Amino acid sequence: MEIKRLDLGHLYVTARPWPVHGYVILHEQLGVVLVDSGCGGPGEVLRYYKVVNRTVADALDDHGLAPSDVTMVINTHLHFDHCGQNPAFAHAPLMVQHTEHERVLRERDEVTDWIEASGMTFELVDGSIELAPDLRIIGSPGHTSGHQSVVATTGLGTELFIGDAAYTRRIWDSSGIGSLPEGQAADIDAWRGTLGALKALAPERVHFCHDG
Ligand SMILES: [Zn+2]
Repeated sequence: MEIKRLDLGHLYVTARPWPVHGYVILHEQLGVVLVDSGCGGPGEVLRYYKVVNRTVADALDDHGLAPSDVTMVINTHLHFDHCGQNPAFAHAPLMVQHTEHERVLRERDEVTDWIEASGMTFELVDGSIELAPDLRIIGSPGHTSGHQSVVATTGLGTELFIGDAAYTRRIWDSSGIGSLPEGQAADIDAWRGTLGALKALAPERVHFCHDG
């Protein structure tokens, strides 16, 4: 298994730019697994967050890959900066938690409309699922109610792809104590529980989406 970080541009939540990262897992059995596809969606949302986008095709090309090489997409959750370039992967299964899909339908906004209009169809996951003996999806609610993370067992040990379960290493290290950026936790108790559960996996490496 080999892991590559994708540079998917940046956006602005505060005055400072936030990087946007996705990840590729080159897996012997599963092929090219993409964790989060980057920014996309309705123009008003992209303008609001002042998105300076990078296409996932360009980001993959940095590693000698093309969208057509991707065999599976895992969306940690359905915020526009994590599923926004899903339309480039109509040929691949899009794995998302059932509860996350229900959430976007329930909380319906312009991103929901965009997801529906794009025609993307999801493969819905309930909680944990083993994709291969060394790769699994686990539920990690709190940032959103249906957030999920990816657990890989590599030569290094346990590696986690945590989406927005913690935006940055600083938040991960804080263990949820102290002030949080806006939007970090939709449900603070669930979020703290998830952070504790992820830390209990004793990861050798944690892959963030919005850390420098
Ligand atoms: Zn998010």
